[in-house]
Amino acid sequence: MAGEKNKPTTNDAGIPVSSDEHSLTVGPDGPILLQDHYLMEQMANFNREMIPDRQPHAKGSGAFGHFEVTQDVSAYTKASLFQPGAKTDVLARFSTVAGEAGSPDTWRDVRGFALKFYTNEGNYDMVGNNTPVFFVRDPMKFQHFIHSQKRRADTGLRCNDMQWDFWTLSPETAHQVTILMSDRGVPKTYRNMNGYTSHTYMWVNAKGEKFWVKYHFKTDQGIDFFTDEEADRMAGEDPDYHRRDLSEAIKRGDYPSWTLKVQIMPFEDAKNYRFNPFDLTKVWPHTDYPPIEVGRLTLTQNPTDFHAQIEQAAFEPNSFPPGIGPSPDKMLLARLMSYADAHRARLGVNYKQIPVNRPKVPVNSYSKGGRMRIDNVTDPVYAPNSKGGPKADPERYPEQAVWSADGEFVRAAYTLHKEDDDFGQPGTLVREVMDDAQRERLVTNVVNHLKKGVTEPVLQRAFEYWKNIDKDVGERIEKGVKGS
Ligand code: NDP
Repeated sequence: MAGEKNKPTTNDAGIPVSSDEHSLTVGPDGPILLQDHYLMEQMANFNREMIPDRQPHAKGSGAFGHFEVTQDVSAYTKASLFQPGAKTDVLARFSTVAGEAGSPDTWRDVRGFALKFYTNEGNYDMVGNNTPVFFVRDPMKFQHFIHSQKRRADTGLRCNDMQWDFWTLSPETAHQVTILMSDRGVPKTYRNMNGYTSHTYMWVNAKGEKFWVKYHFKTDQGIDFFTDEEADRMAGEDPDYHRRDLSEAIKRGDYPSWTLKVQIMPFEDAKNYRFNPFDLTKVWPHTDYPPIEVGRLTLTQNPTDFHAQIEQAAFEPNSFPPGIGPSPDKMLLARLMSYADAHRARLGVNYKQIPVNRPKVPVNSYSKGGRMRIDNVTDPVYAPNSKGGPKADPERYPEQAVWSADGEFVRAAYTLHKEDDDFGQPGTLVREVMDDAQRERLVTNVVNHLKKGVTEPVLQRAFEYWKNIDKDVGERIEKGVKGS
């Protein structure tokens, strides 16, 4: 560890070394000796400095701060971090999805918006995006989707044809693709984008009453974006532009903040709501469930060791303190397993003992052993026991975030609700939310994208896909591509 300043260098065992510059040789011009352990240790450690990239969300940046409750939402959740007056330490990580760790920040992509709240009832992680929806609604398609957005097997190149092939054969992608191709597809900075849980979660209040909830972290800096042209230029000028911007803003004391608003749906509404409220490709229109304010997230502190604190940060949406739980969203239910599994594969089974992932409350679990365990385990190592080990307290911590289900075992799509279709909500976005200038930029962005290597029959399907979203926009896209 490069530790205290102005102290003699030591090796990793803390033993002072005699030179930072010269290896141990037989005479000044002779061969290097294998007994130069300090040299061997430096070379061996260097070879092991890199850990595997995240798959996906490899390129990201992060910072520490806090979340402060400003309004009283205790009628909906008993979670301690959302109680009036609560202030909780937070780690945030923002990222692109498809690019590798060295890829430019300004490539058109969805951005990850992951938060770790170090609450007084254990860590609460929110793994969201800068968009309120996602490309697919069944986890069986997730791996295929990510493959289609990354690199080809033969050339190792990114491939627009592959992206549009998957999207146009998967109409449920239409909503997210519309947002991706809009101004929101290249935020100007991480500070200028919103964050959404996208998933629906459950909240439970002190009386045990249940609600469905969606979170919206609205940027207090205002939404801003890069056009395709500006983004391409910035990718060359400063591929780390978003990372640099976040770090420099915090360094100069210009702390970015987001106001958390939530949409609350009474538990019983879900069954007959006009859209399936658990379908990750849909939003709940604000007129149906108006967002209400909860509090403010502020980032105030840069990491001091990017690798230890950001590269090794592990967010997992299965981490629910009392008062919060999952919903029957199939994508969420699969993520509850896959994120923690990814961390075990990438960081090792004891990743929660890495300081950035460690809860700020005592851990009284029966986990033991495993590679790189740092905490000492004490007896007893089993439950039940009569030796004074930890004991679950179902009176104080009942299993509350639950719902009922029955039916045959099937592989089937969700049951459709009255207004469920793939093109309605993106159509509303294009026609009713975007103004003329935004629609024009949407058309330009799609035309630019389709012109880069998209072939038949994918191209024809792409025109149909856009005409299904909005006839006029679809026709303009077709004309833009064919007219060239
Ligand atoms: P509203 O008019 O109440 O809300 C529209 C929302 O769209 C605003 O939150 C705005 O965010 C956001 N927005 C504006 N431009 C874009 C864009 N290019 N990409 C993504 N979001 C954008 O309408 P409804 O609630 O009835 O929803 C209408 C449509 O708006 C939906 O079909 C969906 O596509 C989109 N939308 C809806 C959200 C929701 O949770 N209801 C959330 C985000 C988008 P801001 O205020 O930050 O500018």
